[in-house]
Amino acid sequence: MSHSVSDMIIALDGPAGSGKSTTAKLVAQKLGLMYLDTGAMYRAVALKVYRSGIELTDSAALTKLLNTTKVEQVAENGHSKFLLDGEDVTEDIRTPDISLWVGPVSEHPLVREYLVSWQREIGKHGGLVADGRDIGTVVFPDATLKFYVEADVHTRAVRRQKELAARGIQQSVEEVEDAIRTRDLRDSTREHSPLRRAPDAVELDTTHMTIGDQVERVLYLVAKLKPQSKEH
Ligand code: C5P
Repeated sequence: MSHSVSDMIIALDGPAGSGKSTTAKLVAQKLGLMYLDTGAMYRAVALKVYRSGIELTDSAALTKLLNTTKVEQVAENGHSKFLLDGEDVTEDIRTPDISLWVGPVSEHPLVREYLVSWQREIGKHGGLVADGRDIGTVVFPDATLKFYVEADVHTRAVRRQKELAARGIQQSVEEVEDAIRTRDLRDSTREHSPLRRAPDAVELDTTHMTIGDQVERVLYLVAKLKPQSKEH
């Protein structure tokens, strides 16, 4: 397999607040690759389902909704913006309500089938860093490099609480920690594509790491891969 940086797929999976998105974004910037935030795609679909009021048990209505849904991630001034059917939903998909709602929506096989095929289409030529729950296990099982990003749950809750506060959403660390535990449990015990570490994923425990350390670690392993491309 070629390890030219421009063809690479770097997969980062892990639970909420582990630092995978921040790391993925910065690694993509450094390497000049596209960054794909698959969690945001599930959140955008969850927002649409939530607004539409359809029941998740109504497969016909859900199929119709999915077939008429367009989620786009566009880069703007170094940040990602998310469009749902053309509407900017960047802020709306990060509310505590959507964090609750996204679990049941994302475990639905129709939603997964739809988003996984979309993600594969985006990554079919490589050249991207993607983060989520099933990137290294299901979406891109042949990814060049896979990471399983973890951190102690309290540390993750503190990080998430700060992010929410910075966006004007006030929740206590305990509330955030509770919500994270519930979401992690749901994500890792669901029937379809549960969150789990791919056997070939490198573990990255970020509990005591700075963002700089995390990015450096990923870039170091990318750099170690590069010489192999000369042998192929
Ligand atoms: O990454 P983020 O926390 O924004 O993801 C929100 C939710 O979307 C996750 O808790 C999970 O339920 C779902 N998700 C998923 N598969 C992915 C990415 C996210 O099921 N690849």
